[in-house]
This record gives sequence, C-alpha cells and structure tokens, in this order.
Amino acid sequence: MSSTTGTANIGVVGLAVMGANLARNLAGREGNTVAVFNRSPERTRRLVQEHPEAGFVASEDLDDFVASLSRPRTAIIMVQAGKGTDAVIDGLAERFEAGDIIVDGGNANFEDTMRRERALRERGLNFVGVGISGGEEGALRGPSIMPGGSEEAYATLGPILETIAARVDDEPCVTHVGTDGAGHFVKMIHNGIEYADMQLIGESYDLLRRVGGHDVDAIADVFGAWNDGDLQSYLIEITGEVLRQRDATTGEPLVDVIVDQAGSKGTGVWTVQNAVGLGIPVGGIAEAVFARAVSSKPEQREAVRRAVTSRPDPVAVGEGFEDDVRAALYASKVVAYAQGFDAIIAGAEQYGWDIDLSEIARIWRGGCIIRARFLNRIMDAYRRDTRPATLLEDPYFADVVAQGEAAWRRVVVVAAQSGVPAPGFSSALAYYDALASERLPAALTQGLRDFFGAHTYRRTDREGTFHTLWSGDRSEVEA
Ligand code: NAP
Repeated sequence: MSSTTGTANIGVVGLAVMGANLARNLAGREGNTVAVFNRSPERTRRLVQEHPEAGFVASEDLDDFVASLSRPRTAIIMVQAGKGTDAVIDGLAERFEAGDIIVDGGNANFEDTMRRERALRERGLNFVGVGISGGEEGALRGPSIMPGGSEEAYATLGPILETIAARVDDEPCVTHVGTDGAGHFVKMIHNGIEYADMQLIGESYDLLRRVGGHDVDAIADVFGAWNDGDLQSYLIEITGEVLRQRDATTGEPLVDVIVDQAGSKGTGVWTVQNAVGLGIPVGGIAEAVFARAVSSKPEQREAVRRAVTSRPDPVAVGEGFEDDVRAALYASKVVAYAQGFDAIIAGAEQYGWDIDLSEIARIWRGGCIIRARFLNRIMDAYRRDTRPATLLEDPYFADVVAQGEAAWRRVVVVAAQSGVPAPGFSSALAYYDALASERLPAALTQGLRDFFGAHTYRRTDREGTFHTLWSGDRSEVEA
C-alpha cells in the first residue's frame, strides 16, 4: 500500500491504441494531470517521447504509478479484456486505499464487472466499469462514455469523464448509467444495435445493387443523399466512404476485393444471449449476428451454390425503388432500436439499475459508432414517456413506420422474389406484424403444449388455468 500522494488526478494503465489515445485526450483537457503505466515499459516510453505536450507523469513500476496519483486515486484500465484486466485490477487493488477508484474502460462482460465490483467493494475500494465507444478516433477526440459504479465514485470520476467525452448541443456524451455493471451492460446493447444497423445498411446496399442495378459509385451517392435526411448517421456516412474507395492494385471498388465473410469480437453474441435470457426478442440484432455467421461458412455456401440449379432473376423495379429501400431501412432501424431499448429495460429490472433511457439516447448522439440524428427523436420519446410499452407506440415512430409500411412490405417481397437475403428487413417486419396482429398463433402453440405436455392454457373468456384431457374424454378441467 502506498502512502505518498502524487500530482496526477487520473491515471491510465494499458497504453495500446485505446489507452494511449484516451490518455492523450485526458491530458489535453483543462485541469487534468495524467499518470501513465504499461506492463511493457517500451510502450510508455514511446508515448511520452511522441507526446511531450501531454505532460504525462510516467512510471515504469506499478508502485511508482500508484504513488504518482492524488487522492482519491483514480486509474482507468485500458488493457485486453479478460485475464489482463484481472491481473491489472489485482495489482492496483493491492496498492490502493479505501475510497480509491479503479476504472475498467475495456470491453468487459458486464457480469465480470458486477463480480469485480462486489469483490472490491468488500475491500472498501470503488470499481467502475465504463463502456467507451468510438474506436481509436473517439478515444482521442471524444467518445461516448457509459459509466456504471457507485454514486461516490461517479462524484470524482464523472467530472473527469465529462472533460473528454464527445459533445452534442454543448452537453457531454456521458451520464451515470446505473450502479455496478450497468455501464458495460448498456455498452453491450450499444454494440448489439451497431450490428443490427450495419446489417440493415448491408441489405440496403445489396438490394440497390442486385435488384436496383446500381453500380457501387451510384450506391455511394444514394447513401450520401440519405445522410442529408432523417437517416443521417456516422455509419451511413462511412458507408459512402467505404463504397467510394478504389483498390489500388486492381482499380476495382474495394468492396469487391474484400472477402465477403464478416467477423466479430463477440459483443453481438453477448447481447443476443442476454436478451434471450431476459425473454426479450432482439430479432434485429440476432439476425445480424446470424448473417455474419452464415457469411463465414464458405463450405456450406459453396455446397449450396453447387447443389442449386437455378436462381431467380431480380424482379424489375421502378424509379421509386431507392425510396422504398430507404423507408424499409428506416422502419427496420426503428424496430432494432426499440428492441435494444427493451433489452436495457429488462436488464435494469433484472439487476436493479435505475436507467434513464432518454439519457442513454442522449449520450449515444455523439462520439459512438451508432451516433445518429434520429437518436434525438428517441431521446425526445423517452422524455415524453419514460417507460412506454414500446418505442413503436411513440407518435413520431408510429408515424415513421406507418409512412414507410407499404414500401417496407414491397422491399421484403421484392427481396424474397429476387433471391436476395434480407433477414434484417424481413424479421423486423415480422416483429412489427406480430405486435400489430389482433390474434397470434401462440394460441395454437399453447394447445399443442397442453396436448403433449399438459402445460395448460388460459382462456380468452374467463380467469383461470385450464387443461384438456387429451388422452381421456377431451373435456376441459381447471388446472
Ligand atoms: P488491446 O490490444 O486489447 O490490449 C493491449 C494492452 O493490454 C497492452 O497495453 C497490453 O500490455 C495490455 N495487457 C494485456 N494483457 C495484460 C496483462 N496480463 N497485464 C497487463 N497488461 C496487459 O488494446 P486496445 O485495442 O487498446 O483495447 C483496450 C481495451 O479497450 C480492450 O478491452 C478493448 O476491448 C477496448 N476497446 C477497444 C476499442 C477499439 O476500437 N480498439 C474500442 C472500444 C473498446 P503490453 O503492452 O505489455 O502487452
């Protein structure tokens, strides 16, 4: 345990690209003196050498690093999630004193964060899991920041995070999401929504190309135009940039020389696993995760291509097709976000977090990968009604879906008839139709469950739980 007090109000441990950029961001803001440490000292030396303007207080030994921090000591860990994080936490916890704050800014699983928070709380230490979105550029220039942890820790950490967060309408894109693992939970959902967003963009591109007959440059222009309207977002903007990129070797569009197998680091899978456990349908995110998995099965794709003797021709579409795809994209996006926010509500209930959904929409407006104009609309909706049954009942979003509904249906039909996979569009539409239907075949499901497993059912016309004596005289009894 160190008893000396240093001059740095904040420290960063782990100086690979994210940690180094975050440290530089912190150092560039008024009032911060930043201590830095990395397991391999070469990284620390390089950072200090390349950025003398930052005035880093650098240490090559963990004791010295801890001694360089002022109280309450506050250190942000930016190392490889998992074992690396545990190793660094142990090192800091041995040296920190009651009231000090250990912050994990990596992409941790929120359940690990809850476990770590509990263990450190028992030792009198604060542990804060912080979701940080925005990639390398965001870490340097202003990310969206999703901190969990205690109120006490936020009182010290919050003002520091506010100095480095992205700003929209002069407000920092950071809020105290909730206690213990709430920050990492919300970051997980953010990443799940990011998967859904990218999948819907991919389907739009594919349909414009294979059905609409546009070339890649024309599609880049379409996305450019969309980025001037309600769909304005970082992902739509960079879609235009990626599509415009030419491969230096072949002169072809870069997108045509990239292997069409999408990878992932797992946060989309976490989102789906957790949502399933919470009983929340997140079809938009799940379809995106599955679409990446399908793309990454070259043997199966090859086998089916060999087995298939004929493929449908693209359906002839008229001039309005671009607008139809835009409407389908927007409506499907609304569904994906509604589902993601439902998962946040369910997580908050399950884990006892008091999460302000309008604040989540607010801090996602800047800095993060899903930043988008329409998050203003979501923020407004959750300010009007903090817990609507679904975002789809909000007047603005109900109108978006109603306006786009006919086009949405046309696009799903055209995709199916043309043999172009559009799992994001079609699953979102099916979800919407399920919610909007007066009666669902779930009644038949319940009948079947009662038949083979005596699982019982409820009736539409009176209270109680019932069972039909299927293997007897088929009369109904109250269960
Ligand atoms: P990274 O490649 O995930 O991790 C490398 C860093 O971890 C190095 O500083 C390394 O130290 C350190 N490290 C690994 N194992 C360690 C151990 N056992 N003890 C001490 N240090 C250890 O780095 P990154 O890409 O900068 O990401 C940092 C964190 O931010 C990760 O959790 C990542 O998921 C998260 N994140 C990344 C992005 C992104 O766009 N890259 C975006 C959001 C969040 P050495 O130099 O000694 O090897």
